[in-house]
Amino acid sequence: MDKQVFEALSAATLPEKLGGNTVLREKIGPDFSRWSVKEVGDGNLNLVFIVSGDRGAAIVKQALPYVRLVGESWPLPLKRSYFEYHALKRQAARDPGLVPEIYFFDESQALIVMEFLTPHVILRRALIDGRQLPKIGRDLGLFVARTLFRGSDLSMATREKKTDLALFADNIELCDITENLVFSDPYFEAELNRHTTPQLDPIVAELRADRDLKVEAQRLKHLFSAKAETLCHGDLHIGSVMVTDDETRVIDPEFAFYGPISFDVGMLLANFWMSYFSQSGHENAPSARDGMRTYLLDTVEVIWETFRTEFAHLWRTERNGILYQASLFEARNDPFGAEQALDIVIDEIWREMLGFAGVEMHRRILGLAHNADFETIVDPDRRAACETRALKLGRHLAVNRHHIHSLKDIRALAERLQ
Ligand code: ADP
Ligand code: MG
Ligand code: MG
Ligand code: MG
Repeated sequence: MDKQVFEALSAATLPEKLGGNTVLREKIGPDFSRWSVKEVGDGNLNLVFIVSGDRGAAIVKQALPYVRLVGESWPLPLKRSYFEYHALKRQAARDPGLVPEIYFFDESQALIVMEFLTPHVILRRALIDGRQLPKIGRDLGLFVARTLFRGSDLSMATREKKTDLALFADNIELCDITENLVFSDPYFEAELNRHTTPQLDPIVAELRADRDLKVEAQRLKHLFSAKAETLCHGDLHIGSVMVTDDETRVIDPEFAFYGPISFDVGMLLANFWMSYFSQSGHENAPSARDGMRTYLLDTVEVIWETFRTEFAHLWRTERNGILYQASLFEARNDPFGAEQALDIVIDEIWREMLGFAGVEMHRRILGLAHNADFETIVDPDRRAACETRALKLGRHLAVNRHHIHSLKDIRALAERLQ
């Protein structure tokens, strides 16, 4: 394949174009005429193929120079593949075993060859089907704590951090998408928005007239764009997690950027709250999904508690970066100073996290990119009832985040709304 000119693959052309690739030949089998290729991409942006042969299978993910969901009218640079590759490398080092193994990367073709996760399914799909995965709360809590702590100024030396910040600073267009789609578009009549209409029209009008909410959303956008605290995954929703009963894997970090520690955590928890509110749209009889609802709220608590505990553990054992040096505290016989600072840092993450969760819930119901939890509820009245509850919780979290002190309170509100 010509290394310079980008060429989009298709299931038909892939074996011939990648048939000379030594890594693929080794994984799949040398005779590429015997490879079979299936396009499985269900995402909004990229091409994803499963390639299988005599020896095994691999995933080939290729970026396109435009947004797949919208088409060529919305160009998007190929370099997002480069950021996905680099983010996967860092995540693999920071929380080993949680991301797919990378076999090969071709920058000019915006192409990543990686481990085929099987029999894993997308977590969102599993939750819609009413499956209770036993390990996800702990695995995801550890993943966010480890990747976000170890990618931050609490762990990195200043040269290492600034160099990496410069690398990811070029992921401009994907940050721009989040800045608009998450923090602004839901709160006015932006062109690409859609919502369940006419059922949601009154609450949508109310939210768009809500000055406190709009101000809060912009404060959160300010944190997103300016608080370059750690390397975030950037798109950590439950469609970016693949699971079996025993294994959890995180995929698709093409939105990776240096941002607030709280961002990934908030986006993740928002997705569990949305799954919670969507359950009544999927149950065959009232109360049929009560167990699932309890499981989802429990999982939120496990993720947060695991995150907090692991973050505190790393604070005490790996805090050798730019900030809160041990030379000021532990080495001066003042371990309580470090504990005091830890409490302040966690509290700040908590309050930001709630805000990010709130706006994430809004944008999935009011903006361009909806999620299958609600979208697969066919009856619009039923769907709108679920969405309304999520919108209300989202508003509460975004606006009152400085006055919310525990997940128990949020649980009580979620159950009341339900
Ligand atoms: P996009 O960036 O377009 O959203 P994703 O990386 O999320 O692309 O992949 C789209 C879909 O392809 C996933 O939802 C999943 O079904 C499948 N997929 C992606 N990576 C893998 C993998 N490593 N193993 C198995 N399936 C995968
Ligand atoms: Mg995806
Ligand atoms: Mg270090
Ligand atoms: Mg993606």
